[in-house]
Amino acid sequence: MKIAVLPGDGIGPEIVKEAVKVLNALGEKFELEEAPVGGAGYEASGHPLPEATLALAKSADAILFGAVGDWKYDKLERALRPEQAILGLRKHLELFANFRPAICYPQLTGASSLKPEIVSGLDILIVRELNGDIYFGQPRGTREAPDGNFKGAREGFDTMRYAEPEVRRIAHVAFQAAQKRQKKLTSVDKANVLETSQFWKDIMIDVSKEYPEVELSHMYVDNAAMQLVKAPKAFDVVVTGNMFGDILSDEAAMLTGSIGMLPSASLDKNNKGLYEPSHGSAPDIAGKGIANPLATILSAAMMLRYSLGRPEQADRIESAVKKVLEQGYRTADIITPDCKQVGTVEMGDAVIAAL
Ligand code: NAD
Repeated sequence: MKIAVLPGDGIGPEIVKEAVKVLNALGEKFELEEAPVGGAGYEASGHPLPEATLALAKSADAILFGAVGDWKYDKLERALRPEQAILGLRKHLELFANFRPAICYPQLTGASSLKPEIVSGLDILIVRELNGDIYFGQPRGTREAPDGNFKGAREGFDTMRYAEPEVRRIAHVAFQAAQKRQKKLTSVDKANVLETSQFWKDIMIDVSKEYPEVELSHMYVDNAAMQLVKAPKAFDVVVTGNMFGDILSDEAAMLTGSIGMLPSASLDKNNKGLYEPSHGSAPDIAGKGIANPLATILSAAMMLRYSLGRPEQADRIESAVKKVLEQGYRTADIITPDCKQVGTVEMGDAVIAAL
């Protein structure tokens, strides 16, 4: 089992180190190979996704990714900015299905900004399409407006588009995920305004015929944003396009108290995947030894479950994380009174002790 380890920037190396420590404590034979990515890739070879890093990612069975980005690279041209590495990996490896679970652990309900009764026991899975939509659609750019009220003025434009096979494949992934859970799937769109969304909705309905045991419902994205804070426990699996999923998955993340707890997986059609915490590189706390490594450790658990065929090891890690929370260990981002505050390394050690 070959794992490409791409720590990246900011807190990336600190949290990935803890996840690697946990993987090594499982007693399995992993071949772990590390390479620079993001700002670290740019420093090493002038590009955020160096060729050797991409080659390693392609040859591996799974990729464990930290985070990329730092304010010091904001002045670089867009193609050289650290964040391009993650877009490049998604594109080159055809990682089209993004799984973002939002789970509110009972011990952490106090850390959520919502009332405990609204979030306690929350367990949502957001399935976001990652390869298409307005983030990649062509044409895009700036130009002189060819028509409309502002004809002749400078304008910026992007293109929202989805091809039928793209929608079908994410629909199947989402229905299959719902089959393994509460069998409720909510497809989020903006079909009252957007042609692309109506097309998306029609295909969801068509694919639903193959999954009669899954209850499919539809919700406009503006309503979904409201329902997520009003009654989040009403959701089981949510499937949506790239842009809506980007926004809603961050909203769902905050319901749980801390983005430092949330793992994610981005999978291709063969379940090869890139696993990373849902948060970014947190340059504001990098190097201080206080970052929460649990999202990355839980991402490693998802990797064992989805790409490496070791669900029992995934269960072990997830149980160990629950145990350290029960024992009262907390990093600064999830601290509540009466708990024991620990740093990044101590939290990793606590998970290994619990294993
Ligand atoms: P961020 O997620 O890095 O940080 C937001 C806030 O959450 C910060 O206050 C940070 O300290 C805190 N935080 C994040 N992770 C934490 C953890 N594990 N433990 C404790 N606290 C944590 O988002 P941002 O500040 O908007 O972005 C910072 C950089 O990260 C930017 O360059 C951005 O482009 C990049 N980014 C990268 C990814 C990625 O690599 N996939 C995703 C999002 C943002």
